[in-house]
Amino acid sequence: MSIKLHRLLKRQLKKGGVDEQTQLLIAPLLDQVNEAYMSFDSDLYHIETVLEKSSQELYHANIQLQSNVETISSQLTKIAGNIREVIFEMDLNGNWSYLNPAWETLTGLNVQENIGKPYYIFMKDEKGKPLQNLIDLDNPNANTFSKSIKCLTTVGEKKWLDFSIKVIKTDKGIAEGYIGTIVDITNLKKTELALIKAKIKETKANKAKDEFLSTMSHEIRTPLNAVIGISHLLLLENPKIEQLENLNALKYSSEHLLDLVNDILDFNKIASGLLELEKTDFSLEHILNGLHSIFHHKAKEKNIMFIIKKDTSLPQMLIGDSTRVSQILTNLISNAIKFTEEGKVILDIEVAEETKDSYQLDFMIKDTGIGIPEDKKDKVFQSFAQANSDTTRKYGGSGLGLAICTRLLEIMGSTLNLESVEDKGSEFCFSLNFKKSEITNFHESTYKIDGKLDDLKGVKILVAEDNKLNIMVIEKFLTQWKADYDIAENGLIALDKAISNDYDMILMDLQMPVMNGFDAAKAIRKSNNPLNKIIPIYALSASTGVNIKSKIKDFGMNGLICKPFNPTELYRTITKILRKEFVA
Ligand code: ADP
Repeated sequence: MSIKLHRLLKRQLKKGGVDEQTQLLIAPLLDQVNEAYMSFDSDLYHIETVLEKSSQELYHANIQLQSNVETISSQLTKIAGNIREVIFEMDLNGNWSYLNPAWETLTGLNVQENIGKPYYIFMKDEKGKPLQNLIDLDNPNANTFSKSIKCLTTVGEKKWLDFSIKVIKTDKGIAEGYIGTIVDITNLKKTELALIKAKIKETKANKAKDEFLSTMSHEIRTPLNAVIGISHLLLLENPKIEQLENLNALKYSSEHLLDLVNDILDFNKIASGLLELEKTDFSLEHILNGLHSIFHHKAKEKNIMFIIKKDTSLPQMLIGDSTRVSQILTNLISNAIKFTEEGKVILDIEVAEETKDSYQLDFMIKDTGIGIPEDKKDKVFQSFAQANSDTTRKYGGSGLGLAICTRLLEIMGSTLNLESVEDKGSEFCFSLNFKKSEITNFHESTYKIDGKLDDLKGVKILVAEDNKLNIMVIEKFLTQWKADYDIAENGLIALDKAISNDYDMILMDLQMPVMNGFDAAKAIRKSNNPLNKIIPIYALSASTGVNIKSKIKDFGMNGLICKPFNPTELYRTITKILRKEFVA
């Protein structure tokens, strides 16, 4: 044999007892086998080299990983150590298995001493009873929650704690413990409680303010009612020429004072958030007719025109607060006429958008008056502010009208916009959304009494009123209107009279001695006289308390007529009530 045999082949040949002669005989075969052994050796060497290299790489990667883990865990420990909130781990028996250092700050207890101990050794209710039922240890899956608890700490301090816990589960979904946090929210809670207390106090103060305003309003309006009423009466009683001027001044001043009182009371009510908007079906046409009848004459007196322009698609009926809509329009139109010496004032109403169940209406009040200087445009919307200091002297006013309009529109989700050029005129505009009403036809003329009412002849009215001056005024009016009337000085007398007589209407003052107007109305409705179930009972009051309208309805009354009243308006209102047209 010439070739050098591989050591393993050599060993096999020796083991198999293959002598040299035989080896020669099978030499070619042995050559091939030998070659296979050799190439296997070279492969093996290659694999070993690769393996060696990989294992070295693995070793380095491992070292890097270990160092990363150490960095991360030291960062986590740092975070957990410095965080102000307690972070904990707990086993399924409710024993702490980890607590960060914040535990010592919160409780004054040692972390090491507490590990392995049950949570309720610290977590106690404000009476010091361990909160053993805080965690349902028999039902780990129910223990993922967050609760604010008032606790008594080991040093006897009462603290509000926010306790959050979450169950930890294995890959197979088996609960193996809990993690969570405990946060001291005592300061937060104290602030929250202080805020609640302050809110209750504020509500009480607002209520007291409303009651005060309501009483004040009654106190102020009752004598005003008499002054206005008497000045009207005196004017009707053919005064001498020299008296006429004084009487007109008296009438103007008392009406002006009333406007001021109304504005201030209204502004207060709106500013203190006590105003609630009504949502009732109303006829816009009705409001516009009213505005026309008030302002047509005023404009004529100044020799200017007052025009109402209406979109042809303007709906008949809408749902909203008609009193407030009409209050805004009255204010803006009255300003426009007040500040216009020549030309015209236009109220323009357009349907801006109609959806399936609502309308958006655009209202514009344009005048050709004195205008508002650019630098005063913001100022005029503030309360008690007027564009010029001599405005009050020249035109009167309190500077509250625009502030009231702005707030009212804000409550209705709208804004009041102004465009104006000095000496050319002003335009105030706003948009309002109204729900569509289901009532499509507004019947104004469901007459109870046939025909037109020229006076109140044959109409029997019961007036419940305790104020002597007011009695005198209303007596004079009712006599002049030829009405048949009875006066009751308190609610009880009114009840007696309503039982034994058949009236067409009852006008009821609300604040009266012996029995007030609310109780009297309720008692009248329940009384034996069957007519009293349907008789119109209207509160005739100077009160402006919040929700007064809904309160008078609760006591069975039909509506409210505010005092002091303009006699012409009162006459119109009474006739409308008798015709069942009046919607107060
Ligand atoms: P008041 O009219 O009672 O003074 P308002 O709040 O209604 O109070 O108006 C504030 C001021 O804004 C008015 O005094 C007046 O200077 C100015 N103003 C309001 N409307 C107009 C208008 N149409 N034209 C000119 N100035 C106006």
